[in-house]
Amino acid sequence: MSTLEIKDLHVSVILDDENSKPILKGVNLTINSGEIHAIMGPNGSGKSTLASTIAGHPKYRVDSGEILLDGEDVTEMSVDERARAGLFLAMQYPVEIPGVTMSNFLRSAKTAIDGEAPSLRTWTKDVKEAMGELKIDPDFIARNVNEGFSGGEKKRHEILQLELLKPKFGILDETDSGLDVDALKIVSEGVNRAHQNNDMGVLLITHYTRILRYIKPEFVHVFVDGHMVDQGGPELADRLEEEGYVSYIGK
Ligand code: ADP
Ligand code: MG
Ligand code: MG
Repeated sequence: MSTLEIKDLHVSVILDDENSKPILKGVNLTINSGEIHAIMGPNGSGKSTLASTIAGHPKYRVDSGEILLDGEDVTEMSVDERARAGLFLAMQYPVEIPGVTMSNFLRSAKTAIDGEAPSLRTWTKDVKEAMGELKIDPDFIARNVNEGFSGGEKKRHEILQLELLKPKFGILDETDSGLDVDALKIVSEGVNRAHQNNDMGVLLITHYTRILRYIKPEFVHVFVDGHMVDQGGPELADRLEEEGYVSYIGK
């Protein structure tokens, strides 16, 4: 069993050489393997900042607090080291990598994370299977990473990585944005498979409750102005759907 523990985390976004702006103001959160946590909150509350900080994005500076993966502080680790340690962030705006095919990208990522190349036969089979389940066109594997991918294809690609790389914790930032209902279902089923098959812990960050019809969180956290203001079970998401965040603003 693994634990991701965030303790009194304060983070600033670096604007330029001299200026920064505090965004996260004391975030506390503990996620264990096999748990699904949803973080919900209004636009601009700092949800993506939290996700990017966990992943090690250089634009965000940890001012104080800790991010512990199985007791080890990851805040000084590079993005690659965090990935090897078992953290995976599905980016809100995934990047294009010109000249690198999906096939090479996935195999290099798997090799980097596991510390050894996967056996070619099982790997090819695993990739084919996962692509089939995500209803990804077989030609996709020969294309360059994210180049000319539609929004839905990018999301499926993220979930394909999640299924193949088998991280301990998957952080999904607005994975539902821009997906039609069919794509949302396929993507959600992929997250659920990674959760069930690999005991992955999930941090699902979302603005809307739509995705929570397909991915069922046990814990729902309300995030406003850089920190958690409430938490509960799935019923809290239903209440937010009806009432919005108004009652939390300024708390
Ligand atoms: P959310 O994901 O909840 O919508 P964000 O984490 O994206 O919130 O943003 C939180 C706040 O931090 C916003 O006020 C946003 O403008 C600011 N912010 C985040 N990243 C940057 C950045 N790179 N440069 C300037 N401001 C930023
Ligand atoms: Mg965001
Ligand atoms: Mg407050």
